Amino acid sequence: MSVDAVVVGSGPNGLVAAVKLAEAGRRVLLLEAADAFGGGLRSAELTLPGLVHDVGATVMAMALASPALRDLKLKGVEYAHPPLPAAHPLDDRPAVLVHRDAGRTAAGLGRDAAAWRATAGAAARAGFPLVDLLLRPLGPWPAGLARPSALVAAARFGAAAALPATTLGRLAFRTVEGRAVLAGMAAHSLLDLRAPITSGYGLMLAATAHLVGWPVVKGGSQRLADALVARLRELGGEAVTGHRVRRLAELDAETVVLDVSPRQFLGMADLPPAYRDRLARFRHGPGVFKLDWALDGPVPWRDPAVAGAGTLHLGGTMEEIALSEAETAAGRHSPRPYVLLVQPYAADPTRGGHTLWAYCHVPNGSTVDMTAPIEAQIERYAPGFRERVLARHAMGPAELEAANPNLVGGDIGGGLASLGQFLKRPVWSPAPWRTPLRGVFLCSASTPPGPGVHGVGGWQAARLALR
Ligand SMILES: Cc1cc2nc3c(=O)[nH]c(=O)nc-3n(C[C@H](O)[C@H](O)[C@H](O)COP(=O)(O)OP(=O)(O)OC[C@H]3O[C@@H](n4cnc5c(N)ncnc54)[C@H](O)[C@@H]3O)c2cc1C
Repeated sequence: MSVDAVVVGSGPNGLVAAVKLAEAGRRVLLLEAADAFGGGLRSAELTLPGLVHDVGATVMAMALASPALRDLKLKGVEYAHPPLPAAHPLDDRPAVLVHRDAGRTAAGLGRDAAAWRATAGAAARAGFPLVDLLLRPLGPWPAGLARPSALVAAARFGAAAALPATTLGRLAFRTVEGRAVLAGMAAHSLLDLRAPITSGYGLMLAATAHLVGWPVVKGGSQRLADALVARLRELGGEAVTGHRVRRLAELDAETVVLDVSPRQFLGMADLPPAYRDRLARFRHGPGVFKLDWALDGPVPWRDPAVAGAGTLHLGGTMEEIALSEAETAAGRHSPRPYVLLVQPYAADPTRGGHTLWAYCHVPNGSTVDMTAPIEAQIERYAPGFRERVLARHAMGPAELEAANPNLVGGDIGGGLASLGQFLKRPVWSPAPWRTPLRGVFLCSASTPPGPGVHGVGGWQAARLALR
């Protein structure tokens, strides 16, 4: 068919871009390299027949908070909340429990109750206007932030967010529990926790647990991708899998939106030298080593209070987690890595059984098998875990990148999340989704606001394309 717009790549950003363009009446063709749509939203039978595993994202906090997705009423997408968004087990004391309710979470932190209320709690109270500001840093100023009280809340958040997580941990928190839970949240950034703005990532994530929860898509994340493809088709768009685009010259459309990494874009077209050089300087972050398991029952956590948590942060105290992340940032493998673990069955019993995944951070492009260190960290808090394993599936950086070329060297963040690359993503510009090529836009996680299932990059690229 002759089309107005081609979208390359069907991750959440590509899907949102395609739907927004089609809603505006454009004839859209979506091309996906893999044999299934979704990118980071794919689900598959990775271990045993009949078991649904999310290959990438499971926790949909960003989707629920996102101004690009939260108002889309998608058929067939049901969110299921675990009893607890997150938990952080510790060796010799009860686990820290992150509840939907900020006050209840704070109460569990004892002497750090006030610190939690003043940081994560305050960010949650600032609500969607603050989320909109952070997810659309270059968009219009959110109307809800016009009130002086909201401005003060945003400024307070900014002051704390700018700090390294280890600094905020030491300045604002006094207990092992308070510092550990902050570090566990901040380590989602894949950064050395001594780096600026790592507090911001941690507080923002914690705030979403209170604001919208950390749900999963019932039946697997693939359903969200499939629903977006269905919406595109309803609007007259076409979507094709198994089609990898290598050169822009292959495409014939007025508008091209690319859900691809800057590295791929460099190989797709002859770009003006100044832009090409700036793009070539874009840096990728560490990779991950991910394990998926089929279990014969729930994980035997030593502290039963964490059984209902959708997400667990394993790695102990703030000091231990900071050490693990510093090792990764220095290009080494931590023998006791920070492990991010998701147990979807806590929220969703419809996935065919007890599926579980966890990853740890590794140097970009690492070829080291981290199965033993990851499982040792789980055994530390759940003795007897290994006996529950029916089957396991491992993906290191090479396998992740083979499944999705955007995961360069296993970097699931679409590029280092440093302060520099928060501002230059992938280049410094008031509209970084625009490229020097007429009608060509970038929308992947390598553009603002960065990684996560929020679709904001796609929304921004579509908005510019429609102007
Ligand atoms: C293991 C893992 C766990 C994660 N967990 C979470 C989580 O729980 N919550 C959360 O919010 N986020 C999570 N994320 C991050 C989230 O999945 C990503 O940030 C998000 O999917 C990025 O969306 P995107 O649209 O930019 O690109 P992707 O989702 O990476 O999709 C890009 C798509 O484009 C296709 N493509 C690339 N190049 C071409 C080409 N040349 N031609 C055609 N097609 C192409 C790829 O095949 C892929 O399908 C996780 C990621 C991973 C890998």
